[in-house]
Amino acid sequence: MDKIIVLIGAPGAGKGTQARLMDERRGIPQISTGDMFREMKKADTPLAREVQETMASGKLISDDLTYQIVRERTSKPDTAGTYVLDGYPRTAVQAEQLEQLAVEQGKEIQAIEVDVPQDELFKRLTGRRSCPVCGEIYNIYSRPPKSEGFCDDHPDAKLDHRADDNEDSVRTRLDTYKTNTEPLLAYYERSGRLKKVDGTGEIEDIYGLIEDLI
Ligand SMILES: [Zn+2]
Repeated sequence: MDKIIVLIGAPGAGKGTQARLMDERRGIPQISTGDMFREMKKADTPLAREVQETMASGKLISDDLTYQIVRERTSKPDTAGTYVLDGYPRTAVQAEQLEQLAVEQGKEIQAIEVDVPQDELFKRLTGRRSCPVCGEIYNIYSRPPKSEGFCDDHPDAKLDHRADDNEDSVRTRLDTYKTNTEPLLAYYERSGRLKKVDGTGEIEDIYGLIEDLI
């Protein structure tokens, strides 16, 4: 049976990397809410106009409207088989709505959490530095540059530390994620459809674990 894979992971957990590998190696398309909303801003369909009007009026996009967007997007030919949802559902209410879509599309839902401990996420996010010249990404904990604070290839370029990678904002982002996601994880856990994958190892090993589940 084809699947709707609900990929869940904190900021810094490497969820995007894994979704890209699933696409490259297995041809499983990744449907992200970010992409869907960007498309909606440009498109000229009744649904897109409703989204544009809602955004223009400053209102939040409701669960029902979000569901319609996901439903329309996943009715395209590229999602006829198994696909990955990234960033949806975000709440238990949205998860319930997704059940209806799975029935309509004749698919089963598989939730996969890329699990990384909080302190590891914290290091990954706060340790990130980038070269302003070439864009190379370093991490002061796991991938430090040869000379502290400077790019290996551009010794005069002082590495950037993004403002939202500072400790306070990272802590806030991780706490918000945890609060929002716990009910969703519990929802899939209760119905026996949550699989956890250890997200602390090498990218290829993590991908191997995910591939065993799909
Ligand atoms: Zn550089």
